[in-house]
Amino acid sequence: MNAANYVEHSLKLRHRLATLRWSLPVVLAVLAVLYEQGLGRWIHDTFGASQYFDLDILFYATIVPLLAFLTLTQLGRWLDQKEGAEQHARASQQWLAAITTTSADAIFSLDTQGRIETWNRGGEMIFGYRREEIVDQPFTRLLGTGEAAEAEFRWLMAEMRQSGQVRAYETTCHDSTGRLVWASLTAIRMETPDKLPANVSVILRDITERKRREEEVQKLNVNLGEQVAERTRELAEKVEALARANAELHKLDQMRMEFVSIVSHQIRAPLTNMQGAVERMESDCAAVNLTCKRMFDVLSQQTNRLDRLVSDVLSATRIDAGEIVLHPEPISILPVAQQIVNQVRARASDRPIHLPTKPGLPFVFADRERVAEVISNLLDNADKYSPPGKPVEIDLRADETGVILCIRDRGKGLPAADLDRIFEKFYRVNGGDDQTAYGYGLGLYVCRKLIEAQGGRIWAENHPDEGTIFSMMLPIAR
Ligand code: ADP
Repeated sequence: MNAANYVEHSLKLRHRLATLRWSLPVVLAVLAVLYEQGLGRWIHDTFGASQYFDLDILFYATIVPLLAFLTLTQLGRWLDQKEGAEQHARASQQWLAAITTTSADAIFSLDTQGRIETWNRGGEMIFGYRREEIVDQPFTRLLGTGEAAEAEFRWLMAEMRQSGQVRAYETTCHDSTGRLVWASLTAIRMETPDKLPANVSVILRDITERKRREEEVQKLNVNLGEQVAERTRELAEKVEALARANAELHKLDQMRMEFVSIVSHQIRAPLTNMQGAVERMESDCAAVNLTCKRMFDVLSQQTNRLDRLVSDVLSATRIDAGEIVLHPEPISILPVAQQIVNQVRARASDRPIHLPTKPGLPFVFADRERVAEVISNLLDNADKYSPPGKPVEIDLRADETGVILCIRDRGKGLPAADLDRIFEKFYRVNGGDDQTAYGYGLGLYVCRKLIEAQGGRIWAENHPDEGTIFSMMLPIAR
């Protein structure tokens, strides 16, 4: 009987039972009444005790039909429950059948001997075997031939007996053409109530593509590893070469600094002699005419410039090499400034330089020679970058941390963007008189380094009316 016939048959049965549930008790009751009116009454009158006759009537006409009704109702319920359970089982079966048919995995069962019993569409697609070709064949047909496949099969069956299942076990199979198929195997032993050897349900998922990609990634990783090792080797060689070049460069730099230092010292000595000679000639030669006087001035100015250049180059070289040596001590700035002002006045007699007498200023903790070098540089610049005859004013003041010296000239000032940049090495303001003025952009660089090395600060600003103010601050000696 197929499923549709079975359902129809079951429906009819339940329908009949429902009819019977109502009709049978009624028939029984009627029969009981009729019986008691005829044959029953005669039997009781003749043989029995007639006082129980009414009780009999009651029993046959009510209790028996009622019992029949209840029995048939219960029977109907059982039938309904049975039908429900069967419907559920049929739905599960259909659902499983649909999964098995549409699944892309190979789903099949093995009998107790390990022979394939069922075969689905997924199996056909993965292994290329049709149902009739593979059913009844041993499972080893998929696992491949040889001792290894046999051993694997034995292990699988042992595992089924022991733990009842194997999950996501990766293995290799062969399809109908002999092509290798990587598969993930999940198998489970079917339950039998009597604990007899049971069938095994198997799912084989094709993971060949994933395995192929994994192998490719592995190969790429190996390649990548080799490439990284190669690049690391190259890099190590380059780092070594760079270190060698650096050492070479350092040596050359050292030599350059030594050379600059030696040359500067060698130039300085004759320069001092020349300066002395010019001064003596100026003062001692009685018969100096006007032209000679002008020439002496030129000579004196040029030797001074040369001296400043040599001194700045020497200081910058030492600063860059980190070799600047300072001898700080508590000093008063005023006499140092006074000494430099005197020197500049001697050179530039037509330039009024105002230096206030400010007694009571605190001492600063600084290297006298270096402070003199900075003030001299700033005064030289004020003289160089402001028109002849215009005054230069020096101011000195103190606050709670330091003594501040400001030098103001009446030149054309500095572009706002250059106020800080002029302290960079070799920086000179573009265009204007300053580019025509003799210079090399080292003086202010040296000034900033020297002042900062002594814990001070140096900066430039434009005066609101005219000219530039250069200020330096040195910390008070405690
Ligand atoms: P140099 O004077 O040899 O060029 P400096 O380092 O002393 O080098 O000065 C850097 C630049 O700052 C100068 O080229 C000049 O343009 C500018 N400068 C310095 N002092 C003044 C000043 N008092 N007034 C205007 N510009 C100045």
